[in-house]
Amino acid sequence: MDKVVKVCDVCEDLTRPVQIYTVGSADGRVADPPPTLCAEHAAPLEAFLPQAQSAPAKPTPARKAPAKKAAAKKAAAKKAAPRGKARRTLSLEEIG
Ligand SMILES: [Zn+2]
Repeated sequence: MDKVVKVCDVCEDLTRPVQIYTVGSADGRVADPPPTLCAEHAAPLEAFLPQAQSAPAKPTPARKAPAKKAAAKKAAAKKAAPRGKARRTLSLEEIG
C-alpha cells in the first residue's frame, strides 16, 4: 500500500505538518495546484484566516451568559428610554 506524504512546497521538510491552501485573487487567478505549506511558510496566509478548529480558544459559554444579560437589560432600557437603548447596551457589554 503506497503512502503519499505531503510536504511543504517551500521547504519540503518531511517532519513538518502541512496544510493545503486555496489561494485566489480578485482578478480571477487561482493557485493550481493549491499550495501545500507548513506552519512557518503559511504564516503570511494564516495571518488572514480565523484560528483553526483544533484550537479550543473560543469561550463560547462565556459569550452566551453576557448575551442573555444584555438582552434582558436591553428590554428594560427599551421601556425606560428608547433613545438611550443603544448607549446602555454598549456600556453593559463592556462591563459584562
Ligand atoms: Zn515550509
